[in-house]
Amino acid sequence: MLKVLRYIIQEVNNAESLREALAIIVHHVRDALETGACAIFLMDHEHHKLVLSAADGLEKNLISKLKIPVSQGLIGFVAERKEAVNVMDARLHERFYEYPGAGEEKFNAFLGVPILHRKRLLGVIVVEQEEARKYDAAEEAFLMTLAIQLASVIVEVGGKDILEAVQQDDHDLPEVLRGTPGSSGVGIGEMVVVYSPADLDAVPDQETDAIEEEIEKFMAAIEATRNEVRILGDRLSQSLGSEEKLLFEAYLLMLDSDTLQNEVLNKINTGVTAQTALKSVIKEHIKQFVGIENEYLNERAADIEDLGRRILANLQTEEQATIEYPERTILIGNEVTAVHLAEVPEGRLVGIISGKGSSNSHVAILARALGVASVMGVGELPFQKLQGLEAIVNGYLGQIYLNPDEYLLAEFQVLANEERQLDSELASLRELPAETVDGHRVALYMNTGLLADISRSMSVGAEGVGLYRTEVPFMTRDRFPTAEEQRIIYRQLLNVFSPRPVIMRTLDIGGDKPLSYFKMEEDNPFLGWRGIRVLLEHPEIFLNQIRAMLRASEGYSNLRIMLPMISDVSEVDESLRLIKTAYQELKADKIDIIMPQIGIMIEVPSAVYQAQLLAQRVDFLSVGSNDLTQYILAVDRNNSRVANLYDGLHPAVLKALLHVVESAHREGKTVSICGEMAGDPVAVILLIAMGFDMLSISAPLLPRIKWVVRKFSISKARKLLNEVLLMSSATEIRRHLEFALEQEGLGGLIRAGRH
Ligand code: PEP
Ligand code: MG
Repeated sequence: MLKVLRYIIQEVNNAESLREALAIIVHHVRDALETGACAIFLMDHEHHKLVLSAADGLEKNLISKLKIPVSQGLIGFVAERKEAVNVMDARLHERFYEYPGAGEEKFNAFLGVPILHRKRLLGVIVVEQEEARKYDAAEEAFLMTLAIQLASVIVEVGGKDILEAVQQDDHDLPEVLRGTPGSSGVGIGEMVVVYSPADLDAVPDQETDAIEEEIEKFMAAIEATRNEVRILGDRLSQSLGSEEKLLFEAYLLMLDSDTLQNEVLNKINTGVTAQTALKSVIKEHIKQFVGIENEYLNERAADIEDLGRRILANLQTEEQATIEYPERTILIGNEVTAVHLAEVPEGRLVGIISGKGSSNSHVAILARALGVASVMGVGELPFQKLQGLEAIVNGYLGQIYLNPDEYLLAEFQVLANEERQLDSELASLRELPAETVDGHRVALYMNTGLLADISRSMSVGAEGVGLYRTEVPFMTRDRFPTAEEQRIIYRQLLNVFSPRPVIMRTLDIGGDKPLSYFKMEEDNPFLGWRGIRVLLEHPEIFLNQIRAMLRASEGYSNLRIMLPMISDVSEVDESLRLIKTAYQELKADKIDIIMPQIGIMIEVPSAVYQAQLLAQRVDFLSVGSNDLTQYILAVDRNNSRVANLYDGLHPAVLKALLHVVESAHREGKTVSICGEMAGDPVAVILLIAMGFDMLSISAPLLPRIKWVVRKFSISKARKLLNEVLLMSSATEIRRHLEFALEQEGLGGLIRAGRH
């Protein structure tokens, strides 16, 4: 059973649409349980009915037509109970109901299992049998396991209507995609699909007239792959066992075989690009292998896939430089990365849509820094069909409209214009302090990571840089930047901002910020080797960076250094020791520098509880609320599946923030917040009331936050804080604060447009 289950799951994962996945399931389940029929009904929540969505052994014409009210029959009974119903003779059951024309007359035994996701009913899977027998426990367990798997497949189709997804023709696209709001704003433009290199699934279906050119590219990629495999084989020939050696020989044979080459060439000749042709041929081969229940042949499928990826990588290296970005580009992909963003020419990016991730993923943070609307966690999509389509990204609601008609376009143009107008009106606040109506002053700094957003910061009037994420220049290279390269980048920043302070954070890699050239594979990266933990085990990387920062500050006095992911006092002591050593060495070399202020980030619960002890050792504290929220709530900030549980307004997080502010102030140290919460107009009311001395925000959000501060009085903010501290949930708190914003005429900050 287990083997069959694994096999079905693999097949389902290879399916191109939900409709195909459901058809595969009913077919194999009927086979595996040797039963008369299998059917899947999906829930239409709007009409409270179960819709027949796939069937094997029943009348197929009824698919999408048979709609059963939840109150009716045994299938409705499963849905109502949200539990399995297993009966030997369905006809004797009080809830039995026969659907005319379904072909059920001959069946007696019935087993129905609910398909649930987070307690929500998505549908019911049913098997039926002529023979009046009770399905045994193993069969019931089999169907339940499958239902759980099926639930995640359905959920991955995205937040969109599942029935729509099943009924859709494979070539149709939905009109609206839904995900999690990533960064606010409205973006209207043309979609460019980006993908991780060498990902066959992500290759778009693209046609071409340049057949000769594509053939040449393909042959060159075959040649390059052949050399690669040969070199790899030679290099490893000493240490390889005979089986692995055979593998390399098999690769070479496959590469040279006429079959693979000819199939791809034939496909290209039908008018598609080399990448598209390669994807389709490799997928076809894989399908043939996995269709056979044989472990050896299944392994061969993995080999073919690996080989396909290698050829694809070679094809893509040639093509990388040739991506064309339209004037108004919306990047879309299963996993959009910082590197993808960095490749778009300045001024062209208007929107980002990512299959994975949530509002606190680093791409969403970068999107905010660039002032670009983004939607995260839209799920798996037929990305290849989206290339070149026009779309509207509504970053407030997490919605994307595909191929919008002129009316919708006109409506969103108005909203986008209103936003621009609001921003230009707020520009007049530039020289004014962030001060409440009753004179409470808070400093507004900006977060940065890309040099491109420095110029923007000048126009929004940031009082300094509260967080410079140094990992960005590390992530956009294919090796560690040298100390001199780093020095140049850091100096530019210090120079632009001088005399205003610049807080540079030491390298914070790990978690969802990997470096392609620095291996760190872990089961649980957010609880693993990240931030300061990496640096203290690699003092050479740490010292290189510290020296680069100190050298960059020659002649300036605005450098501050901040340490990420501190979870223990000893990490601070050791880091301070290293920083002081670097400083003294440079001083000894007669470099004109001063010892910078050193601060730490409070991002994990242990640091919250030790905040006062930590504050005694350093000059300032800064709360990284993105991580702190994920660690307090045990919710991965990057996982779209639990994104609904992630909220910095959770009462537990608010209490932690308050504790940190009080601890820092008890030691006479300043405390700031540089997580995304500081840019959330709703949260800001509470942050100023708590007494944060400084908020560090993505530059495009800064004028809006200043507007909030200047509209409120500290006494009103404190009153609201006291009120929400008595509340028990983030939802309640958010609603309360949104109401307060509306009352002050600031509703435009939480939705598209300005009213
Ligand atoms: C944070 O965790 O809040 C933070 C500012 O750091 P990052 O988002 O880069 O992890
Ligand atoms: Mg962090």
